[in-house]
Amino acid sequence: MHFHAEIWVKNKPKSLQEAQGIVKSIGHLGDWNQIGGRWMGEHDNYKPENNPANYEVCNICKGTGTRDWDKTDDQWAKDCHGCNSCHGTGVSQKWPTEWKPYEGDILELSKVRDNLSCYTVVIHKGRLNSFFHSEDWTGSAFVKGAMEGKTVKEFLKSKGITDGYLITVDYHE
Ligand SMILES: [Zn+2]
Repeated sequence: MHFHAEIWVKNKPKSLQEAQGIVKSIGHLGDWNQIGGRWMGEHDNYKPENNPANYEVCNICKGTGTRDWDKTDDQWAKDCHGCNSCHGTGVSQKWPTEWKPYEGDILELSKVRDNLSCYTVVIHKGRLNSFFHSEDWTGSAFVKGAMEGKTVKEFLKSKGITDGYLITVDYHE
């Protein structure tokens, strides 16, 4: 399963590399994690699917929009508009792991949309990290966690945090 985490940091990372270093240093974020990923643009409603940089020439039809296949009479083939990979457009969307990094995935808390919610919030303070989830595993069942039903901003405010930056992270466990 992939999960959406927001990492709170006091100071703005100077570069994407520094932000990645912070995320890697945290640990406990599954066996794989990435800034943005499936949740790229969540901070301010940026849509990676609208960025032409996140598309490539369809390798099934070589960009022609028409596949060289023998099932053209088949209804499924018709519904594909000529190519089952790109639906006749000649371009296909890249995997989220190959999307162009979006600078808004590291954003000042005050600029993040008010209704943003996520599965995990990490409050990062030096080598000390605090984790809060929508649900917690007791060893035998999932129970309501600290983030359940709260927006990220509401939650952080309840911890006395109204400044700093948020880093969007996609993690897998
Ligand atoms: Zn195609």
